[in-house]
Amino acid sequence: MYVLGIESTCDETAAAIVEDGRKVISNVISTSVKEQALYGGVVPEIASRRHAEYISATVDKALADAGMTMADVDAVAVTFAPGLIGAVLVGVNFAKGLAYAAGKPLVPVHHLRGHIAANYLTHQDLKPPFLCLVASGGHSHIVLVEDWCRYKILGRTVDDAAGEAYDKVARTLGLPYPGGPSVAAAARDGNPKAYKLPVPHVDGKYNVSFSGLKTAVINEVHNAEQKGQTVNVADMAASFQERIDQILAKKLLAAAADTNARQVVLAGGVAANGRLRQLVNDGAQKLGAKVFLPELKYCGDNGAMIAAQGYYEFQDGNLADWSLNGLPTLPIDYR
Ligand code: ATP
Ligand code: MG
Ligand code: FE
Repeated sequence: MYVLGIESTCDETAAAIVEDGRKVISNVISTSVKEQALYGGVVPEIASRRHAEYISATVDKALADAGMTMADVDAVAVTFAPGLIGAVLVGVNFAKGLAYAAGKPLVPVHHLRGHIAANYLTHQDLKPPFLCLVASGGHSHIVLVEDWCRYKILGRTVDDAAGEAYDKVARTLGLPYPGGPSVAAAARDGNPKAYKLPVPHVDGKYNVSFSGLKTAVINEVHNAEQKGQTVNVADMAASFQERIDQILAKKLLAAAADTNARQVVLAGGVAANGRLRQLVNDGAQKLGAKVFLPELKYCGDNGAMIAAQGYYEFQDGNLADWSLNGLPTLPIDYR
């Protein structure tokens, strides 16, 4: 079964064709990230406008790269939540029109379920149940994936998402947007023990909190400024990365140990972080659990992950009618 996946929740306009939820036939990403970088973050109105401009050509190219027309596609999957609502609506309405015109079923996909499904594209043997850390620009969840379309949230951030913390710390340090990759690059030349950053206290065994950590970085920078000094950017980037990745890995591994997880999975944009991948890989192996990491090219937003999850949603009978609407928020465990 060939699923066309369409994604437009943030600054990537993306479309892909995936066979049976596993095999990527084509994958096209158009992004306004360079323009967003001028503003130090995603400007929702700019994102929406660029989606409207790019989406038609992006979907056309996904079909052309696959050597297909809509007649060859068996279903259209689209991210309908959560995300910037103006951005989400571009994808949803385009997908509705396309599916209706071509007489194909329309499959609504939750964005975070898509991030998790990115792992199915690489790990052909991965299937639920497994424990997953989804860490992205807007979310940080520790989720038990009980089945293809069944989720149980064990822990979450009580304030900032991990990617958001990376982005804000990058901005504080004068590093370019998106912050995750630029902090990781700066950290390569830094000493992770140079700055003593706090481990924020948080209620809930598997919950995380990053707002205090971010504020600690901001305070260090301001204190240095007041003394006419500057922080060492590489050292601060390395210290921050080490601290936040240790927190994420520790919480995930604690949940893995407590639930006796046999499979531990990473997902979301922050899953591209090398130090986090290393910590989770080493820790999970010590627990005797198998580790699954998404390929770097599928960590950020893309259409292939939406097509992959779309396949399983379709199998589960989760179809939308022409009244499908986009939603700015929706929990991953919605039924
Ligand atoms: P969400 O998925 O929660 O709706 P989003 O789609 O904007 O948010 P993603 O595209 O999944 O988020 O991930 C982008 C985030 O990942 C950004 O915050 C970015 O800084 C972060 N990120 C990307 N690469 C890295 C990296 N190497 N290290 C740490 N963070 C990273
Ligand atoms: Mg993005
Ligand atoms: Fe995302």
